[in-house]
Amino acid sequence: MKKKICLLYGGKSAEHQVSLQTAKAVIQALDHQKYDIYPIFITTEGNWIKGPLLTGPVETVKQLEFHGGEKMAPNALSTSVSEGEQGGYDVIFPLLHGPNGEDGTVQGMLELLNLPYVGNGVLASSAGMDKVIMKNLFAQAGLDQVKYVSFIRSIWEKKPEACYREVEEKTGYPCFVKPANLGSSVGISKCTNREELEAAFKEAFQYDRKIIIEEGVTAREIELGVIGNDDPKCSVAGEIVSKKNFYDYKAKYEDGDTALIIPADISEEVYKKLTEAAITAFKALDCSGLVRADFFVTKENRVMINEVNTMPGFTPFSMFPLLWKHSGLDYPQLIEKLIELALERHAEKQ
Ligand code: ATP
Ligand code: MG
Ligand code: MG
Ligand code: MG
Repeated sequence: MKKKICLLYGGKSAEHQVSLQTAKAVIQALDHQKYDIYPIFITTEGNWIKGPLLTGPVETVKQLEFHGGEKMAPNALSTSVSEGEQGGYDVIFPLLHGPNGEDGTVQGMLELLNLPYVGNGVLASSAGMDKVIMKNLFAQAGLDQVKYVSFIRSIWEKKPEACYREVEEKTGYPCFVKPANLGSSVGISKCTNREELEAAFKEAFQYDRKIIIEEGVTAREIELGVIGNDDPKCSVAGEIVSKKNFYDYKAKYEDGDTALIIPADISEEVYKKLTEAAITAFKALDCSGLVRADFFVTKENRVMINEVNTMPGFTPFSMFPLLWKHSGLDYPQLIEKLIELALERHAEKQ
């Protein structure tokens, strides 16, 4: 029997576009002999649309809202797949990045509907989406990381000067200002003085009511893939070499100025430190399925965790699938493995 896979893509998030690229690649890679694919497009307004397969250029997807595709209530996922057919989906694949998808909201609904789904559960997704909570949990688990401080919009609006002074005391310059709940470098700025800091606060607060400011480090950027449930395993390490000021949205998705070096040229000792930290981070957030763990490695080989991403970029050219390709799992195999892990975790809950 073919398995019925429901792909959720798009999403009410600043990372909507990234998800479209991912969905297109996953649809193409899934073995259509083994799986029937049912895509559901979530618009930037948060409407759910049962859509045709996403095979055209991603720019045309917005038009699905108007041409074809039938609007549905999100909780209709648990009913039959299509009229006249028996049974529901075998597994849901939430290919969503950022808030309203990678943050535990969709995962919570899928739990209520008792449907198996790929990737992290409610707790790991929400803890991983909030950089402040994530870093607090990492600190608790004894992981090394940069200094950070966080602010809420309403407090900043009342006393901006006090916030800037606190940043200057706690992290100093250079520092990175980020919305607490986002990804793909959206809303992130690097600051080297007060003027830039003020502008960066304004920018980041456009995306979130909470922001985080981190000490800026000069270090190599190394990433690892982790997959598994109770016994997670690490991929080889990859390095990001960007010609830009930092690895910003453009460098990630628009221009080709960034090189991904896989495997990264690091010693066995550093790789061991990275894998230990990645597994500790996975467990600290009670992750399941997959994460991409992002690190800074200094010249002195100090390994600091930056973050984990609970639904990392997932096109065949993204770091996470490439790391697994170099670790022996090609793109279709990786997708299959994630589906298996989803079913395994679901069975354990019953
Ligand atoms: P994604 O989820 O796509 O990985 P993100 O939006 O969660 O991205 P980060 O990974 O935290 O953002 O930061 C984006 C980039 O900014 C990093 O890859 C790095 O180039 C730079 N950066 C972030 N924080 C720091 C820091 N504390 N010191 C130096 N560089 C940093
Ligand atoms: Mg991230
Ligand atoms: Mg992310
Ligand atoms: Mg990152």
